[in-house]
Amino acid sequence: MSQQAHSPSNGDQLFSTASSNVSNGDQSICDRATVNNLLDRKINKDSLPSLAERIEASCVLTAVGDAIGYRNGTWEFNFSGERIHKELKDEFGGKIANIDTKTWKVSDDTIFHLATLKTLTHKDLNQILTPKLSIGFKDEGFMELVDKIMVVMVQEYVACWKDMGDRSPGKKCRDSINYIKQTRKNKWDSLNYDSRGGGCGGSMRAMSIGLAFHDNLDLLIAIGIESGRLTHNHVVGFMGALQSALFASFAIKQIEPKLWGYLVLEFILPKCRYYLKSVSKRNWKSIEPDLKAFEEKFKKYLGERGILSFTDENIEAIKPQFPEKYGVIERDKYYKSYSFSGWAGSSGDDSIIVAYDALLSSGPNQYEQLVKRACLHGGDSDTTGAIALNWYGALYGFSNVYEKNYENIEKLSSLKLQARKVLEKIEMN
Ligand SMILES: [Mg+2]
Repeated sequence: MSQQAHSPSNGDQLFSTASSNVSNGDQSICDRATVNNLLDRKINKDSLPSLAERIEASCVLTAVGDAIGYRNGTWEFNFSGERIHKELKDEFGGKIANIDTKTWKVSDDTIFHLATLKTLTHKDLNQILTPKLSIGFKDEGFMELVDKIMVVMVQEYVACWKDMGDRSPGKKCRDSINYIKQTRKNKWDSLNYDSRGGGCGGSMRAMSIGLAFHDNLDLLIAIGIESGRLTHNHVVGFMGALQSALFASFAIKQIEPKLWGYLVLEFILPKCRYYLKSVSKRNWKSIEPDLKAFEEKFKKYLGERGILSFTDENIEAIKPQFPEKYGVIERDKYYKSYSFSGWAGSSGDDSIIVAYDALLSSGPNQYEQLVKRACLHGGDSDTTGAIALNWYGALYGFSNVYEKNYENIEKLSSLKLQARKVLEKIEMN
């Protein structure tokens, strides 16, 4: 977007912490009026569901997307979208509305996401994650705060492992949790940079970080990245986690989905680079080229959808572009084209791309369409379903969602309780 397109800040900052303006190491980008003015492009201006509803929907629908994509293991591990949609037709009349999830277990995605939620609302952090928390990258004690949060997260991730029976957790998560158990809680960041750590284990569980820290971008970036890095210490793994959390924060802030990718490229990635290189001081030599490749892949996706950049003249007119025929077969093929080894959505980067593509191609408030596109495909469908439905809930609440899909969902009371606690924290801010 051209800088002259918008006047200087209208007072409505993208993220309200002072740190957004002073501590990213790239003043020119943070001062861009264009970024702040994007906030004016909110959706649902007239009929916005309450924040309470959207937080609850975000937490509950994560489990719904997971359970439907998983279908007790049969749909997650069915590699043909066509076969899955045939089963939907034969057994449920082709309608998502007919799915009662009462006997559909949630998988590892929901169990881990619940552990993330429990971290963010943990009593040990009540004194730290206080109202008006405005600490940023350059403030004294920033990494100490990150450390305190991550120590709790380790405890929750280790504890949740007891509840993984019949939920198909990934091998990398298993190995990393075992490693963490051996090295004890204070060694949460001791995992080596790992060329095999690019799976979606981080992105499937990070969304609620974006809910809790939607007003503190520096903390969101740090905790988003570290939450993934805990088990998946590769750029693809931990940046997938960051994007998952970030897009949930964009959804809560009602930023138009078509702009999310642009914001990542223009505003977020420079801050991530600064955090990794200069704040957390990670293995920059290894990270730098991998981060460039991660960026290029995401750019390619945005380019194919026509939402790589915006100008003052075309920002209203630009709509994400999709092929005229974009059915089950075409989507399977397209999703797969972004996969690491043919299983679409199983990596940190393509889990985000598939979920984002499903959200964009379905359109606002199109729940049924979104479930079919995010949860019912021949890839890692429980993860892409969990992520996409989380964002949907944060954007639209329970609008057009079928009660039958969530009224009996496993873990419902825990998810609602955690949603209430997150809301309390947000409202205190
Ligand atoms: Mg799963």
